[in-house]
Amino acid sequence: MRIVVLTGGIGGARFLLGVRAYAREVGAEVTAVVNVGDDLLLHGLKVCPDLDSVMYTLGGGADPERGWGRVGESWTVKQELAAYGAEPSWFGLGDKDIATHLVRTTMLNAGYPLHAVTEALATRWQPGVRLLPATDDRLETHAVVDLDGGQRAIHFQEWWVRHRAAVPTHRFVFVGAETAKPAPGVAEAIAGADVVLIAPSNPVVSIAPILAVPGLRAAVADGPAPVVGVSPIIGGAPVRGMADRCLEVLGVECSAAGVGRLYGGRPAGGLLDGWLVAEEDAGTVVPEVTVRAAPLRMTDEAATVAMVRAALELT
Ligand code: GDP
Ligand code: CA
Repeated sequence: MRIVVLTGGIGGARFLLGVRAYAREVGAEVTAVVNVGDDLLLHGLKVCPDLDSVMYTLGGGADPERGWGRVGESWTVKQELAAYGAEPSWFGLGDKDIATHLVRTTMLNAGYPLHAVTEALATRWQPGVRLLPATDDRLETHAVVDLDGGQRAIHFQEWWVRHRAAVPTHRFVFVGAETAKPAPGVAEAIAGADVVLIAPSNPVVSIAPILAVPGLRAAVADGPAPVVGVSPIIGGAPVRGMADRCLEVLGVECSAAGVGRLYGGRPAGGLLDGWLVAEEDAGTVVPEVTVRAAPLRMTDEAATVAMVRAALELT
């Protein structure tokens, strides 16, 4: 069995722990197609927050409390940068994390594409699933906001981390998406999948940028594999993070039904065959989609495996 998972960072990474455990039980192969819209250059270093969240989490090196970055992290470089007054100062780069970005940036500068760099980094972390960036090309999520008396487009990380999503926001744009190509292996993995799972990731800024790569939405929507999504919204609120703020920008209700309808049913030109919602949201209706309710809190690996099983039972 071949399972493809479309995923963002923290929520997707936790979900992948369950997918990997399930896959080990049944001997399935897992490919994670990871969002790159959050990627940015900081102090000359290429940082890929979602790829790193997935890699560290599956590799056992993530900080479980903070949710991002490395466990046992130290912040000497950050303090030294602050002593120089170096901007941006709002994005935390830990010392251990910086080593990842140094290796990645060096390889990219030497001409290796991002998927090859990701594979090289993964030889250390042994994530147990194939990690693929959605694209090797630059695809950056920007938020169009009212700031400093005018309308400006700012990088997603500046919107999310610096402004905590608390600025008047008109829309998101995926800069570079028009000319981006799927990373090698991505379209092939989707075409060869037995099932495509959409992780309970942020639909607006984690999943949408993946689908914005030309060809990928169609590969999923028109592909042979059934597609099942898992709701990141429980009882009308994100489990963590600010997906509510992102959905508000799109004018989409923050609910399991709202996100399900945003993805849409395949017969209606959308993506989903199945939509797994939380028990709290039983009774959710999404036109032309099979909806089922199950416990959706990823409290531990066993609970997450049960979620994965429930999602696969929808196919
Ligand atoms: P990010 O890229 O680091 O923001 O992470 P993702 O986009 O992959 O995941 C963020 C989403 O995960 C948020 O919208 C959360 O609501 C969702 N999430 C986090 N923990 C859980 C959980 O235990 N259950 C469910 N259903 N969703 C979760
Ligand atoms: Ca992210």
